[in-house]
Amino acid sequence: MRRYSMFAVAREALRFHAGWERAWKSPEPKSHYDVIVVGAGGHGLATAYYLGKVHGIRNVAVIEKGWLGGGNTGRNTTIIRSNYLQDPSAAIYEKARSLYEDLSQDLNYNVMFSPRGLLMLAQSEHERRGYQRTVYANNLQGIETEWITPQKVKELVPILNIEGPRYPVLGALYQERGGTARHDAVAWGYARGCSAMGMDIIQQCEVTGVRTEGGKVVGIDTTKGAIGCSKLAMVVAGHSSVLAEMAGFRLPIESMALQAWVSEPIKPAIDVVVMANLVHGYMSQSDKGELVIGGGTDGFNNYTQRGSWHHVEETTRALVETFPIISRLKMLRQWGGIVDMTGDRSPILSKTPVENIFVNCGWGTGGFKSIPGSGWAMAELVAKGEPGPLAAEFGLIRFREGRFIDESVAAGVAH
Ligand SMILES: Cc1cc2nc3c(=O)[nH]c(=O)nc-3n(C[C@H](O)[C@H](O)[C@H](O)COP(=O)(O)OP(=O)(O)OC[C@H]3O[C@@H](n4cnc5c(N)ncnc54)[C@H](O)[C@@H]3O)c2cc1C
Repeated sequence: MRRYSMFAVAREALRFHAGWERAWKSPEPKSHYDVIVVGAGGHGLATAYYLGKVHGIRNVAVIEKGWLGGGNTGRNTTIIRSNYLQDPSAAIYEKARSLYEDLSQDLNYNVMFSPRGLLMLAQSEHERRGYQRTVYANNLQGIETEWITPQKVKELVPILNIEGPRYPVLGALYQERGGTARHDAVAWGYARGCSAMGMDIIQQCEVTGVRTEGGKVVGIDTTKGAIGCSKLAMVVAGHSSVLAEMAGFRLPIESMALQAWVSEPIKPAIDVVVMANLVHGYMSQSDKGELVIGGGTDGFNNYTQRGSWHHVEETTRALVETFPIISRLKMLRQWGGIVDMTGDRSPILSKTPVENIFVNCGWGTGGFKSIPGSGWAMAELVAKGEPGPLAAEFGLIRFREGRFIDESVAAGVAH
C-alpha cells in the first residue's frame, strides 16, 4: 500500500491524479479463512485490523451484505466520549478514545478526530447529582472530566439559553478531550489498513447461514457461496439476533430505529458537542456547517432505517428551547439506523454456546465512540479464545448471573 503524504499529494498533482490506487481491494472469497468477521461496520473492520496488527492473524475475511460503513457506522452523529460511570465501561471507552487520539497517524488516513470538548447538561437536580457522581468516578478511573458551573457552560456555548423556564441549566459534566470524528473515514481507514495486510473485504455478500459440526463452527453460507472458517466473529449490530439464530442460539438484544437529522449549513455557531439528556436531544456543528441533531430510539422494535416523526418534533422542540437561535433553521436531511439494545445498555463481547463463534454487539445508541477499543478487545478475544481485561466483564454470562453493568441509569441516554 502506498502511503498517503504531502509528497504523494504533490506527486499526484503533477500527473493529474492518475496514479492513486484503490484504497482497498474487492476480491472474490477464498474457500477457507482462519477468521471470518461478519459485518464491515467500524467494529467488524477494527476487529479485523487489530487481529492482523496486534495478533499477526491475517488470513481474514470481512463479509458485508451491503457496502462497508453503510450500517450504523455511516449513520451516526459521531460523538466520542468516555465519561461513563461503571469501571468496565469507562475502561473500554477510554481505551477507544485514547486510540482515536492518534488513529489518523496509525491508519495513515485522516479520520478527522476533533476533540473539541463535550458537555452533558444537567437540567434537573437528579441529573446534577448523577453527573457529579460520574465526575468523582471518572477521577478515580483516571479519566479527565470535570463538573462546570452554568456560567462556564454559557462561556463555552454562548448560544445556549441557561435560564430556560422548563429546563434551566444547573451545570454540566464536561470532558475536554471528548468530541467527534468523521464516521465514514473511520470505516474507510480501517478497511484500507485491513486490505494492506492482505485481508479480503467482501461487499455485497450476505451471510445466509452458519455451518457447524459437533458444536463447532466450520463455515458460513453466503449469497456468493459457502466459505469455510476456523473462527467466526459476528459483528452486525442491529442484525445480531438474526445471525445468532442462524447459529442456533439467542441473544438478549432488541433492535430499534434510532434517527438523526441535520440543518442547513450555517456559519460557525457552536464549537463543542452539547448533550441535553433530560430533553433527549444533542447537537454539534459539522465541518460543513450543518447542525447535527440526534434524539432517542423509537419505542418499539423494528428494522426500518428511518425512525418516527414524533421524535423529530419532540427533540427539535426541546432543542429550540435550549438554543432559541436555531428556531428559524430549515432541516436538510433525516435518516435512521438499527441499533442493538441490551437491557443494561452495555455491550456484549463474548464467546457463545457454539465453539469458536464470538459475538460483538449491544453497543446500541453509543458504539461509534468505542470502535477502536472494541476492535482491540474483540481481536484479543478471537485470537486467544478468551477475553482480555477490557472484554472480561462484557460476557453473555452476566445476563444469566444478573451481574449487569448498568449504564442506562447512569446516563439516561447512552450516546
Ligand atoms: C442515528 C444514530 C446516531 C448515533 N449516534 C452515535 C453517536 O453520536 N456516538 C456514538 O458513539 N454512537 C452513535 N450511534 C451508534 C453507533 O452508530 C453504533 O453503535 C455503531 O456504529 C455500531 O457499529 P457496528 O460496526 O457494530 O455496526 P454497523 O455499522 O451497523 O455494521 C454492521 C454491518 O453488518 C452488516 N450485516 C448485517 N447483517 C449481515 C449479514 N447477514 N451478512 C453480512 N453483513 C451483515 C450490515 O450491513 C452492517 O454494515 C448512533 C447510531 C445511530 C443509528
